[in-house]
Amino acid sequence: SAPDASISHTASLQYWNSVSADTNGMLGGYPQTSRIDLQGSSNFLAKLRRRHHASRSTPTHTPTNTNTNTNTAASPAASTKQAAVFPLLDRAADCGAGIGRITKGFLMGVARTVDVIEPVEKFTAELVREVEGVNDGGASRAKIGEVINLGLQDWTPERGGYNLIWNQWCLGHLTDVQLVGYLERCREGLAGAEAEEGEDGEGGGGGGGREAWIVVKENMSTDIWGKDIFDEEDSSVTRSDAKFRGLFKEAGLKVVAEEVQRGFPKELYPVRMYALRPE
Ligand code: SAH
Repeated sequence: SAPDASISHTASLQYWNSVSADTNGMLGGYPQTSRIDLQGSSNFLAKLRRRHHASRSTPTHTPTNTNTNTNTAASPAASTKQAAVFPLLDRAADCGAGIGRITKGFLMGVARTVDVIEPVEKFTAELVREVEGVNDGGASRAKIGEVINLGLQDWTPERGGYNLIWNQWCLGHLTDVQLVGYLERCREGLAGAEAEEGEDGEGGGGGGGREAWIVVKENMSTDIWGKDIFDEEDSSVTRSDAKFRGLFKEAGLKVVAEEVQRGFPKELYPVRMYALRPE
């Protein structure tokens, strides 16, 4: 049968509950890759935003260093460059967030509010504990919006609510059918989606004018026949590039940018980033 038929949410939650609530646990023992990962993500988003602003040729913000916004995310280094160039996005979601490695090291630097969706409570408890401990007069805590303890198969983003829905190293826990359904809900959750079906969507632009992307950043199957690979340990599948593209299409999404993450150890699966928008 298909590899995704073996996915068990009970088994994966059992696995993740047994893992330590730290970067090592999140990345399965390669803590040094986190910095490279966050830098790659930051560059990828910067590219999307540059392109977006260039295509609209609205000089909303001159790229100077006069930006005074003092984002004090726990480790904002990865996003400093970008924060200096673009205004903050209104709202981002960190999906399958774990302890919020991406929230703290990247998303808090680029968005005013970051919602966190993660089924394992001990991970989100650690995240909240850490951001509350940052000594910035509560600014970090204020950045975290909703903390939602759900699997993504059970989460519906608020309609039109998000500029950025970040999904990394967690979509293998959803079956193909669950993933397509989830991505369809994410599509509706993008800022601008609420205007698209209306008559007067921003001068005919519909949602096309808003900064809004779903990003998927996942391991790629290395099976020589391109098959998905089931992992017993955490009850997940590692999908092929072709499989992902097929599922995106089914969900009514198109790939507007993509990139392979560089600089990871050779023994790891290749990792790919896709930026998705409504077809
Ligand atoms: N995205 C984070 C965490 C990766 S670890 C990062 O890159 O650092 C994988 C995470 O997926 C774990 O926190 C695990 O609890 C979560 N997870 C497991 N099943 C899930 C599901 N059905 N939906 C969403 N997240 C899930």
